Amino acid sequence: MRGPPVTHPSTETYLRGPWGSSVRIEDDLWRLRLKNPVGTLLVNTFVYRHRDTLAVIDPGWPWDLQLLEDALVELGFGGIAAVTDWLYTHSHIDHMGSAALLQQRNDAPHMIWPWVEAELGQWHHYQDRVNDWTPWVEEAFAEPLRSKILAARLGRSAGGARMLENFGPGALTHTRRYEIGESIAVGALRLQLVDARGHDPSHLALWEPTRRWLFSGDLLLAMPSPLSRAMGDDLDLYEASLRRVSDLPAELLLTGHGTHQRGDDIARAVERSAHQVESHDLALRQALNAEPTDLYTLATRMVGGKELEPTSRWWVYLANTDTHLQRLVARGEARRLDSDEGPRYVTR
Ligand SMILES: [Zn+2]
Repeated sequence: MRGPPVTHPSTETYLRGPWGSSVRIEDDLWRLRLKNPVGTLLVNTFVYRHRDTLAVIDPGWPWDLQLLEDALVELGFGGIAAVTDWLYTHSHIDHMGSAALLQQRNDAPHMIWPWVEAELGQWHHYQDRVNDWTPWVEEAFAEPLRSKILAARLGRSAGGARMLENFGPGALTHTRRYEIGESIAVGALRLQLVDARGHDPSHLALWEPTRRWLFSGDLLLAMPSPLSRAMGDDLDLYEASLRRVSDLPAELLLTGHGTHQRGDDIARAVERSAHQVESHDLALRQALNAEPTDLYTLATRMVGGKELEPTSRWWVYLANTDTHLQRLVARGEARRLDSDEGPRYVTR
């Protein structure tokens, strides 16, 4: 049974600055969108303030920490030095990539959990490895497509991350460890770590049962969540995570990108993500036939013969199609034929 309705400010207050924009979503919760100096993808950084607590969830890209500093100063919070808790939904560079750098500017602990533990000693190396799609491109595509895709990905904001080169190995040592299922006490909040793997093998959702807030990271996006073999993502885990969060009586959904949702729109957001998976699966089954066909041709066929725009969207589509394909192969519903011309797929 649900409790009394959760109150929220009737007007959300916006603020713009050279650093980006912010909106006050609740009396004690702000969403920042810091500018991205090297790309177009904006990340939602959430700031929770309660008495002496100043918690930041997903501080964003590692490229320009001065933007976060300026935003926290302009909001009257005292800048990075005043932050008491660094919290995360997942390990990707746009959410947790700055962790080791923030450690140099502030003593507050960074939450960690078992799935990220092995990577903490070489955090920047880990970021570069996850963002390097080269091994996947070489395996999934034959020439001349392989070289074309590799050239196009070179120097992109995440694909060309080079954290190691720019910032050194970056060991993340100032940490506080939590188990999955455990709750973090942050000011008046109790944030429970919920298994939300799929888009990232270490993805969490943070669930506040009293306020009924759900910080969902990149589990629920307007676009299909990227599920890339290159980044160790998993479609079965993703679907299980969708089912898990659909059981939570959330009143405020705080996503890693895009706009927050309230009330019934939350169930719609979960349904939309589930539908995106189902329709991708269906389109792939319709595109497959007895003729051996490569990933690129299949994906192009599925979208009506033309690459999607912008290119970043097309890469996600290719990666997701490949993830679906490998699952069909694993389940014995499609067959993979390997040759010098790269892998091709047929119906069984
Ligand atoms: Zn993200």
